[in-house]
Amino acid sequence: MSYSNCQNPYCHYHDTQDRIKGSKGNKVYTTRKSTAYFGIACTLHCLNSYLEHNKEQIQRAIPEMQIQSRPINMYYNWQTKKLENS
Ligand SMILES: [Zn+2]
Repeated sequence: MSYSNCQNPYCHYHDTQDRIKGSKGNKVYTTRKSTAYFGIACTLHCLNSYLEHNKEQIQRAIPEMQIQSRPINMYYNWQTKKLENS
């Protein structure tokens, strides 16, 4: 799933030229369309603001993960995404 606009509610508070839209005399700062970061936000800064703003809803939606462990003689292969013997 990907949103069509940056989901940071403060995105339009940043003063950048690409956010300015509208006709002469009626220009406004708008939310960016890009959602390059996980289909959520336009920049890492906006992604961080989104997470900070929505922290409680995210925590309610995703149960707390318990402590995980792996045997001391095994390692995680990030390419195969499997535990392997070292
Ligand atoms: Zn943004």
